[in-house]
Amino acid sequence: MAVPPFDLRRQLETMGSTLDQAVLEVLHSGQYIGGKLVARFENAFARSVGTDHAVSCNSGTDALILALRALEVGPGHEVITTSFSFFATAEAISAVGARPVFVDVDPGSYLLDLDKLEAAIGPRTRALLPVHLFGCPVNMERCMAVARRHGLKVVEDCAQATGSRWAGRSVGAWGDVGCFSFFPTKNLGAAGDGGCVTTNDPQLAQRMRELAVHGMAERYVHNVLGYNSRLDALQAAVLLVKLPHLPALIRARQRHAAAYGQALDQVGGLALPTQGVAGHSWNQFVVRIPGGGAQMRNRVQVALQQQGVHTIIYYP
Ligand SMILES: *Cc1c(COP(=O)(O)O)cnc(C)c1O
Repeated sequence: MAVPPFDLRRQLETMGSTLDQAVLEVLHSGQYIGGKLVARFENAFARSVGTDHAVSCNSGTDALILALRALEVGPGHEVITTSFSFFATAEAISAVGARPVFVDVDPGSYLLDLDKLEAAIGPRTRALLPVHLFGCPVNMERCMAVARRHGLKVVEDCAQATGSRWAGRSVGAWGDVGCFSFFPTKNLGAAGDGGCVTTNDPQLAQRMRELAVHGMAERYVHNVLGYNSRLDALQAAVLLVKLPHLPALIRARQRHAAAYGQALDQVGGLALPTQGVAGHSWNQFVVRIPGGGAQMRNRVQVALQQQGVHTIIYYP
């Protein structure tokens, strides 16, 4: 039996024909950009995260760029982030002209080591950009305390952590802005690209909304150079159907992670990810093979492949 890293079709079985129906309705409506479905999704998403505002956009990468731009992070500024994430995190910082400053990670959780955070702060530091990697929530009470002490902005990279919680509060509701991705393999996946920013600050929300439509405040009045970064109505329709299923999907991920944890605990030579973190949404279950370096890791990968178990290196 082949075991793929993910099979996106399996989720759909739990949603029946509702999803098909929703997609067809958009197709026949003739309204593909903006409109009531996008607004309805933004409201529903803000409610689920627990923020006053949600502004949808084209991708998680754009969400990070919109957040940094709205916070006026740019040339001459430094943004402190984790040394271990998907490329887009540091890419977004560089894209706005700022410099990413990397902090090493905790080897158990793979998250930015908060003990090392303050040492990385300098006179040019403008913002902190913690990443809730693999769905594991960063300790946001500690992160916000550091930010407050040094007068820094906080942008949360929640791309892999839709539905994750720290201390009972959703990720993306702690910092100045939360940035989400709806790439198909993320916890809440669209049928294509999509993203969203969340905030409690109405001015930031307005600024990000303008930046996402060419810096346009009212029709054909462009205040700043922005982007063409919108969530399609088709994607909003898909996400509106899937959003109510998210808590159950995350509970299933948590059950699976617990089962992996128990079963793999018997296997020697594996370093398992930190278990028992409340609010972890387990977007990925990533193990390390500490002995033997990359060579041993590649041998394990080949051996698994021969058994039909496909694995991915997160991240080479
Ligand atoms: C996926 C991802 C992004 C980018 O999201 P896209 O929607 O693919 O642009 C950013 N940060 C992290 C940590 C991610 O995993």
